[in-house]
Amino acid sequence: CIFCKIAAKEIPAGIIHEDESCVAFLDVSPLAEGHVLVIPREHRVSPVDMSPAECGALFLSVPKLSRALIEVTGAEGFNVLLNSGRVSGQVVMHAHVHLIPRRSDDGLGYRWNAGEYPAGRDAEVLEAYRKVLADQR
Ligand code: 5GP
Ligand code: ZN
Repeated sequence: CIFCKIAAKEIPAGIIHEDESCVAFLDVSPLAEGHVLVIPREHRVSPVDMSPAECGALFLSVPKLSRALIEVTGAEGFNVLLNSGRVSGQVVMHAHVHLIPRRSDDGLGYRWNAGEYPAGRDAEVLEAYRKVLADQR
């Protein structure tokens, strides 16, 4: 796994921050200058196979990194993105959080077409979530 190799320093990457549980480095093909990826040191594919503590640790550095991103890039804002599964756009199957600097004139855009629930379907979905989450306790 390429990100395991980056975490182990077996292949080079522009590492900007690391701690016991995660490593943050520059994306080699950035959507904007200063695009950062944060990964768990341990190989995990997505939040689905992480413990709450592991997932929390992955996001622990996000406040500090986002402040640095704003200072370094002068971004007006940023996207925090985690793709899970090929259908979502995940290409590297080692979990990673994208921090993508944004400016009003960056041309990146961001428009997903919001849908709507047919009558009664929202209540069914709500009920399904509540049941599944209650069973997980
Ligand atoms: P995904 O589409 O899986 O969410 O994003 C994978 C990201 O990893 C992409 O933005 C891609 O540019 C980046 N990436 C892939 N291989 C490497 C690499 O070897 N080094 C670095 N620094 N970034 C990589
Ligand atoms: Zn890995």
